[in-house]
Amino acid sequence: MIPVEEATKILEGIRTFPEAEEIPLENALNRILAQDVLSAIDMPPFPKSAMDGYALRADDNSERFRIVEVIPAGYVPRRAIGPGQCAKIMTGGMLPQGADRVVKKEVTSEADGYMTIIGQDNIQNICFQGEDISVGDLVLTKGSRLRPQEIAVAASMGLAKIKVFRQPEVGIMATGSEIIQPGRKLKRGQIYDSNTFSLTAQVKQTGAVVKSRQTAVDKPQEIRHWLKELLDICDVVLVSGGVSVGDYDYVPSILKELGAKLHFEKIAIKPGKPTVFGTREKTFVFGVPGNPVSTFVIFELFIKPLLLRMMGHEWQPVIIKGILAQEIRRKRTERAAYYPVVYKEGQVYPLPYHGSAHIHALTRANGLICLARGQQKIAAGSTVDVRQI
Ligand code: AMP
Ligand code: MG
Repeated sequence: MIPVEEATKILEGIRTFPEAEEIPLENALNRILAQDVLSAIDMPPFPKSAMDGYALRADDNSERFRIVEVIPAGYVPRRAIGPGQCAKIMTGGMLPQGADRVVKKEVTSEADGYMTIIGQDNIQNICFQGEDISVGDLVLTKGSRLRPQEIAVAASMGLAKIKVFRQPEVGIMATGSEIIQPGRKLKRGQIYDSNTFSLTAQVKQTGAVVKSRQTAVDKPQEIRHWLKELLDICDVVLVSGGVSVGDYDYVPSILKELGAKLHFEKIAIKPGKPTVFGTREKTFVFGVPGNPVSTFVIFELFIKPLLLRMMGHEWQPVIIKGILAQEIRRKRTERAAYYPVVYKEGQVYPLPYHGSAHIHALTRANGLICLARGQQKIAAGSTVDVRQI
């Protein structure tokens, strides 16, 4: 049994080889950028009006202004603005030569081709060329995750395609003779497979893809068959169940038989102690205990960071500090323990939680808190780190 920190260190020491591919920008949500993006243009590319109004010279104190041109967005002005002159301009319209102020329409009146200012507007109302981004600026960095705002910036740079890291292909396998698929009728002694579904969702959330999903009963030949298949065709294999010390827990020994090198076989963590991690050539494999909270938590803590690193992204969990509203206490302290909590307005509320089968507790949780190895309790009123889930 190794401490959480050591398991993390082992995983961080595993080399990954992210490969780049070019994809259409519209498919890039949640992908990891494989290139720096330098701006080839100024943003805005020309000085433009921030308002519907009239462009004129800021130092012009004329009583009224002759309208020499109308400038809709997308139109290139032909006339320079002289004293006593203005151009009617729309939001996004190009500022004409000579003008350095736009008076907003709301404080003007217009009659017979002339504009008169009838109210106060002291703001310049101009977006200057390059004020947001200048040619050559580093606007997006390699390794960052593409959220809607990054995609907007890439589009505003004129990029229709973008280089991102290839998505690892993940195989998921649930083992257990008691496991049946949702949609079928539950017989006595059976339970529905939830891990295949939670793992699939968690994999997709990282941006990796699920290549194959399998289920196997607790028979060595069946587990061996599917494990070999998945190890052969996937970049990462996730197996739930069958990793513990029970008579029917075949996964670790079969992994070894199939040529996987196991880097650890137990972590001092609750839930999730029997977790195994192995490598076989370029494929990574995790065996996680079948209880749904174990599967979920082990993915969050150990599998997700590795999947993201395979895509060139150094992921950091979001940690929020909050005040524990209610003491948590336990008897045995040889493992680090994770508990589901609700974080709300600076307070941290532990949830009723019956242990690693109690997946429903996680539906109410928005975070996890941890009692370290050797730590028996956290007193109410203490500041705790909440790891967002
Ligand atoms: P195991 O790790 O195989 O010893 O399983 C531990 C517990 O998790 C048992 O109560 C199993 O029935 C349950 N379990 C195993 N696999 C799944 C699964 N895919 N979905 C939901 N529960 C599971
Ligand atoms: Mg089992």
